[in-house]
Amino acid sequence: MSAHPSIAEFQVAGDCLAVGGVSLDRLAERVGATPFFAYDRQLITSRVGYLRSVLPSAVKLSYAVKANPMPAVVQHLSGLVDALDVASSMEMKVALDTPVLPSHVSFAGPGKTTAELTQAVAAGVTIEMESPNEASRLVEIGNRLGIRPRVALRVNPDFQVKGSGMRMGGGPQQFGVDVEEVPALLRSLTATDLDFLGFHVFAGSQNLHAEILCEALAKNVALLLRLAGDCPWPVRYLNLGGGFGIPYFEQDRPLDLSSVGKALGELVEGSIRPQLPDARVVIELGRYLVGEAGVYVTRVVDRKVSRGRTYLVVDGGLHHQLAASGNFGQVIRRNYPIVIGNRMRDTELESVSVVGCLCTPLDLLGDNVMLPHADVGDLVVIFQAGAYGLTASPTAFLGHPMPAEVLV
Ligand SMILES: *Cc1c(COP(=O)(O)O)cnc(C)c1O
Repeated sequence: MSAHPSIAEFQVAGDCLAVGGVSLDRLAERVGATPFFAYDRQLITSRVGYLRSVLPSAVKLSYAVKANPMPAVVQHLSGLVDALDVASSMEMKVALDTPVLPSHVSFAGPGKTTAELTQAVAAGVTIEMESPNEASRLVEIGNRLGIRPRVALRVNPDFQVKGSGMRMGGGPQQFGVDVEEVPALLRSLTATDLDFLGFHVFAGSQNLHAEILCEALAKNVALLLRLAGDCPWPVRYLNLGGGFGIPYFEQDRPLDLSSVGKALGELVEGSIRPQLPDARVVIELGRYLVGEAGVYVTRVVDRKVSRGRTYLVVDGGLHHQLAASGNFGQVIRRNYPIVIGNRMRDTELESVSVVGCLCTPLDLLGDNVMLPHADVGDLVVIFQAGAYGLTASPTAFLGHPMPAEVLV
């Protein structure tokens, strides 16, 4: 069995991987069809517990719903975190269906339509403004509805965070307002009826390097405190982003969270509290909370040999789990951790390629991986499927049915 850290967190019952204490063969019967996604409730709970034990207690934890918007997952997390971050009106609806207060729902993202902004103002969520245009539309909407829009300003920093899988800050960006433009924009809004809370910065995603994250947090705090000193309103909200990564590949080392927690503690006590004693400090995380708690389960429908190479052809594919095929922003294709879920105790391994059922060579889920001998009917399990899985995949491609999702 692989020593990949995320696999070690799942239990094995008999020969079978178990999710939420239910062995996979039984879970497949319960779900009624393969492929499906299964998320382990207990693993999500313990991940949040671990974060709470390491992060300073003054820092609030927000869940970025786009990582996994399954309503049951969001409901479960709503009882564990302090806030929810959404990026569309559909995600906002899922968040507002939970007990989380609307004021603790933040709405970020470029290209918010006037209809979405109107819904958000009426709901009373915190809107993280991404442009001057968005700000002026919010002023109009607030005037029309007679409601003061709760707003924060997303800032595009003047530096880049290295080591992120996806960069979303520094240089020219569609995200946020360039830091040098912020003071003038705030001055232009002083006569309006916006309820200005503070600032948001989110500069990148999937970062596994604690020292880089710590440096970015320190730079962001310095930048936001500088803006706060020049702000026409008292600053009551500082959303510091996140970008905490999870290990996808064998050579990835898990993030050293304790260093990040320690750095955050020093920033809060040493810099933020002295200048902004009442500010609500927020970290927003998506994949770090749910990514490792989910598996994608698909069944072998064919086993064939072509010129010496063995193929396991499964009933799933990149239309459900695009990232595992290497086509979701990756530069180099590498294998996600993969096992035969009903043969966890087999020790004799063979080299096979696991391919999906789509008629394209891109549909490769495991390239020359070492697995126990698997036959038609066996269950292939791909790990790290709890975030950016189903909803980040082209499900309509080739017209196969949608997979089920279960929270166990
Ligand atoms: C996507 C996104 C997140 C979540 O990113 P993860 O890598 O899943 O933690 C958080 N905040 C904003 C603004 C985002 O766009």
